Amino acid sequence: MVTSREMLTYEAAIRHILGLAEPTASETVPLSEAAGRVLADPAVTATVDIPAFANSAMDGFAVRAADLPGRLDVVGEVAAGAVRHEALASGTAVRIMTGAPIPPGADAVVPVEDATQVGERVTIADAVEPGRHVRGSGHDTRAGDEVQVAGELTASRIAVLASLGVGSVEVRRRPRVAILSTGDELVEPGAPLGPGQIHDTNGVALAAAVRECGAESLLMARQPDDPAAIDGALRDAAPRGDLIVTSGGVSVGRHDHVRALLEEHGDLDFWRVAVQPGKPLAMGMIHGTRLIGLPGNPVSALVTFELFVRPYLRAMLGLHGDGRMHIAASPVARMNKDRSRRAYLRVVVWEEDGRVRARSAGGQLSSQLRPMAEANALLIVPEGVDAAREGDTYEAVLLDPIGRGPTP
Ligand code: AMP
Ligand code: MG
Repeated sequence: MVTSREMLTYEAAIRHILGLAEPTASETVPLSEAAGRVLADPAVTATVDIPAFANSAMDGFAVRAADLPGRLDVVGEVAAGAVRHEALASGTAVRIMTGAPIPPGADAVVPVEDATQVGERVTIADAVEPGRHVRGSGHDTRAGDEVQVAGELTASRIAVLASLGVGSVEVRRRPRVAILSTGDELVEPGAPLGPGQIHDTNGVALAAAVRECGAESLLMARQPDDPAAIDGALRDAAPRGDLIVTSGGVSVGRHDHVRALLEEHGDLDFWRVAVQPGKPLAMGMIHGTRLIGLPGNPVSALVTFELFVRPYLRAMLGLHGDGRMHIAASPVARMNKDRSRRAYLRVVVWEEDGRVRARSAGGQLSSQLRPMAEANALLIVPEGVDAAREGDTYEAVLLDPIGRGPTP
């Protein structure tokens, strides 16, 4: 447990958060439904050779290499899915299709385009070495091999599992995340605004961010800045989620009740991290469920989600890190920041003359939301400096592929 008044570095905070993440239980799903899921155990043991039998890599003629060059009698045909049991006698060939089992006695395949068939005879002008165009049994995988299928199930990993004869898989259950916006000023997106009101952007945005991590989101009804109402919503959310993510109410204002509730009814681990945007951040337990309280400013909420909630949800799925590509990028102009905190500046990065350049995606205030959507990266500028300097190189977290964002 970390003392709650301490200001934590990013490293200390992420280490602490990841130390608390427990993998979800597993569940069985059909392979056809498994895209994007994560195997509970990435080691899959092959039970058969793949392929299970030697087969032809080409449409052509199965032959005995020792007969060639020469003219052979075509004594039959074998298509994919069929089997020819008779051994191939010397001086004969069998027409064979790609994927069909090599008949016993044959040891090579001559492609159609290298053979001349007239009636039931085929002339092959060149010699071939034994094994030519034969896909040996087990040349992809041997029975007993341990195949590592780690990470989210992509099309190619699903293909490997299917080839191994797997029809259903044990995957980590998607973490369930209850999302709760707090604030007297908040109104449903789409509803008209009264004086002093704003649309609740965090609820829907955090729900989307949760789903992007492979977790399930449960958007709770937003609550006013009223401790009893917020506590009621947390009691409702706790048994339904593996994690509660709140936004707003974790700062030091008079109406910042989420932090106060954690202190009174729960267990507050820490509530300030030296990152910009996002300093106030709460982590704790309430009504038996883990809670991460994000700041209310939408930019701060999304950046701290990226920094802390995303790796936490991935850890619950058995995945490592943030799943993002980290690159080195150089600003084309100075960008100021707070010296005491590590900044995550919203930038557009692009490649030019073999280097990755970065420019500010717009205003860097945590109330300026649009640059967050226009950025394709977060530029990490460390503690102890008051700006990202032109030409210097910084680590950047790619949120979108280079080139997919707006042009510089
Ligand atoms: P708070 O963390 O509650 O002090 O809120 C900080 C700022 O974020 C205030 O300007 C709030 O109006 C704003 N804010 C809080 N929650 C949301 C939300 N769900 N959607 C949009 N803005 C919010
Ligand atoms: Mg508030």
